[in-house]
Amino acid sequence: MSNVLKIYTFPEPVLRKKAEPIENIDSELQELIDRMGETMYAAPGVGLAANQVGELKRILVYDVNPLGDGRNLSVLINPEIIHGEGEIVHDEACLSVIDFSADVTRYSMVKVRGYDRHEKPVDIEAEGLLAICLQHEIDHLNGKLFLDHIGSLKRSLYKRRLQKMLKKQKDSETRE
Ligand SMILES: [Zn+2]
Repeated sequence: MSNVLKIYTFPEPVLRKKAEPIENIDSELQELIDRMGETMYAAPGVGLAANQVGELKRILVYDVNPLGDGRNLSVLINPEIIHGEGEIVHDEACLSVIDFSADVTRYSMVKVRGYDRHEKPVDIEAEGLLAICLQHEIDHLNGKLFLDHIGSLKRSLYKRRLQKMLKKQKDSETRE
């Protein structure tokens, strides 16, 4: 059996909900973390938040160098941005937003606090791609998507394009 989980895509409502804090890191949660890691590498992506696999739990996994030698999966539980500064613009995409990318402005440096999977507190000072990735994934846990950071014109164009795509898909499914 594959451990890869289904990735929910916009406009699935679970992506718009706030994930709940984790109170207890049990074996079920460890399994979810492993499966989220496998799902992220299979996609492939550099980060994945639990909302994206339909779980409203404050967990994210990331590896900003997933194609390098030796994967190094990082896990953050109950992550919080405790400081942000500077500005960086990056062309972002998302495993939950099909067929779209756009420039998003974020902090260029963030300090993030959370726990690892062994309940050890972690403090991370991140810059560049890691800073972008952590802000993007923490947004997911708060029910936000990178689409919320772009202009409303671009966003409505994408929504219209997506509706057309989904309609086409549905039509071809009903024909089968
Ligand atoms: Zn995303």
